[in-house]
Amino acid sequence: MSSAKPFDVAVVGAGPAGTSAAIRLAQNGARVLLLEEKKFPRAKLCGEFISPECIGHFQQLGVMGQMLSAGANSLRETVFYSARGHQVAVPSEWFTSGATALGLSRSEMDQRLLERARAVGVTVLEGAHAAGPIIENDFVRGVKVKTSAGATEYRAGLTIDATGRTRALARHFDPESQRQSSKRRRGLVAFKAHLENTRVASGACEIYFYGGGYGGLSEIEHGLSNLCFIVSANDVRRLGSDPDRVLREVVMKNSRAAETLEQARLSSAWLSVSLDSFGRRMLTPANGLLTIGDAASFIDPFTGSGMLMALESGQVVADTIASQLGSVGDAPTVELIAKQYEREYIRRFDSRLRVSGLLRRAAFVPHLAEAAILIFGASAHLRRKLARATRRANDSQSTASIS
Ligand SMILES: Cc1cc2nc3c(=O)[nH]c(=O)nc-3n(C[C@H](O)[C@H](O)[C@H](O)COP(=O)(O)OP(=O)(O)OC[C@H]3O[C@@H](n4cnc5c(N)ncnc54)[C@H](O)[C@@H]3O)c2cc1C
Repeated sequence: MSSAKPFDVAVVGAGPAGTSAAIRLAQNGARVLLLEEKKFPRAKLCGEFISPECIGHFQQLGVMGQMLSAGANSLRETVFYSARGHQVAVPSEWFTSGATALGLSRSEMDQRLLERARAVGVTVLEGAHAAGPIIENDFVRGVKVKTSAGATEYRAGLTIDATGRTRALARHFDPESQRQSSKRRRGLVAFKAHLENTRVASGACEIYFYGGGYGGLSEIEHGLSNLCFIVSANDVRRLGSDPDRVLREVVMKNSRAAETLEQARLSSAWLSVSLDSFGRRMLTPANGLLTIGDAASFIDPFTGSGMLMALESGQVVADTIASQLGSVGDAPTVELIAKQYEREYIRRFDSRLRVSGLLRRAAFVPHLAEAAILIFGASAHLRRKLARATRRANDSQSTASIS
């Protein structure tokens, strides 16, 4: 079965990248389809640290009030702790003056964005698994979808892969990069759960370094804390794939983590996922197909800026398409949009991906993390410069404080 009238744009994946693009496109008059395989609200593995620059995006998308009423917690600073307890703080306002970061569960945040997409006229389908692209004459012309009701096809002038690191559509076109990424496999596993009764400092996101990885703890809504950590797959195997043991025997080797997590109790199930490669992927893997968010590139979680990159790349793709909406399905326009999108994406994001890649080495090696914390702890100027290099500092963006 196939849907009757083609959409201007089909967006696949309703994380922050997909909803940001869909809302902005619909607000510009586009007919937009947004497909999501899960039914919302759904939990998501993430540090749930929403960096201060995201507030400007929430305001533009018309969801800031909803985030606050969902109970978003204000985070004034991020404090990095070495395994031995040395610490260095990065105030949130270094990224966007006058704004704080937010702590809010992905279940709440993503749900609010999805509701907004519906409200601005996006056709939203949940429980719709994108099985692959529709390809005609070397052009992607929409998406093949499976739902509980069966298989169907949705046609669109342009298709956007916003399916996160799975790259559900893009991966059909880059088997070579798939092979390389499995060769490059770092053997990392990430875990996340919500906790009660932690001793995390109020208003702080705390980052703990330990052998083979790092973790983050911060308060979210309703007095809960979110704990998310990355460890080596070898440690996970050695400890019988038991997240509680990994927490006690790896993460809590960090002295500050031992202090804040000693009395903590789980208030959700653990989620886990394995991580392979970081960095940029193919942005426009086929004619008529663009990637955004984690499907375009995966920035190191310690930067706390993955969701910002998702929201921002959604904005970049929407702005690029919106200026040529009248002829969006035509081959020359599709090619032009792809070129313009790539150029703007690289201009905005490549340098922060490079800086994060350089810092990655220190993040996974305790004595390097220790040295980095001592060096950057000694100079606020250096610290501020480095912190801003992991982002595109833009103080002119619209800002707000919730404190
Ligand atoms: C350990 C860890 C900690 C992190 N901590 C932070 C943090 O504290 N702050 C921060 O800013 N970033 C953090 N990030 C990064 C952040 O989670 C991502 O950058 C962000 O979620 C990317 O958004 P996205 O919309 O591109 O993809 P996602 O959020 O992954 O959304 C993709 C959506 O696509 C859907 N989907 C997938 N396949 C299909 C399919 N075939 N059909 C239909 N739908 C599909 C999924 O269900 C999902 O809803 C962290 C990442 C990791 C791994």
